[in-house]
Amino acid sequence: MNIILLGPQFSGKGTLARQMVRDFGFVQISLGDLFRENIQKGTELGKLAQGYMNQGILVPNEVSMKILEERIKEDDCQKTGVILDGVPRTIEQAEILSKFMNIDAVILLTLPREEIMRRCEGRRTCSKCGEIYNTSFYDKDTCKECGAPLFRRDDDNPESIKTRLEVYDKMTTPLINFYADRLFEVDSSKTSADTYEPVKNFLKEHLK
Ligand SMILES: [Zn+2]
Repeated sequence: MNIILLGPQFSGKGTLARQMVRDFGFVQISLGDLFRENIQKGTELGKLAQGYMNQGILVPNEVSMKILEERIKEDDCQKTGVILDGVPRTIEQAEILSKFMNIDAVILLTLPREEIMRRCEGRRTCSKCGEIYNTSFYDKDTCKECGAPLFRRDDDNPESIKTRLEVYDKMTTPLINFYADRLFEVDSSKTSADTYEPVKNFLKEHLK
């Protein structure tokens, strides 16, 4: 079963994906990771991608989707299936994707704008190990893991989050329409356990 995961910043997409990987054995795939792997291994596609990146050019779809296609063929992806995170971003990518892989469901995490801003306000990052906290759940100013001071990242400010949300909306709306027949919408405004519950039930039912 292959799944696309959609959701705005602070919707807990990463946490949800980890739970799905842990309980069901999905393979989580993001293009960023695939680029890094291919570049590291020095594959032909990796070299091609690197060439575009070095020139500051967006890696064209023929290359990025080919990298994805090659990855999907590997054994681990043939068991439970994959979770695509951050891909496809456009209808063009979705159309290329449909030629080599079946998308069974698109999980869309929804979160009211006010809640996104509230989570953004409270986010703190450890200056040493990078662990992420939220002041709603953790009220100390040093890291639980390593004791280093927590700080607020520059890009966790209301202005930049607004811009990122606009980009997200522009990107997601056409995809929601494209995948309307297999959309599974989940409210992610409560805890990560509350978000996971309906997803877990959905997967149990469909992975039989
Ligand atoms: Zn730390």
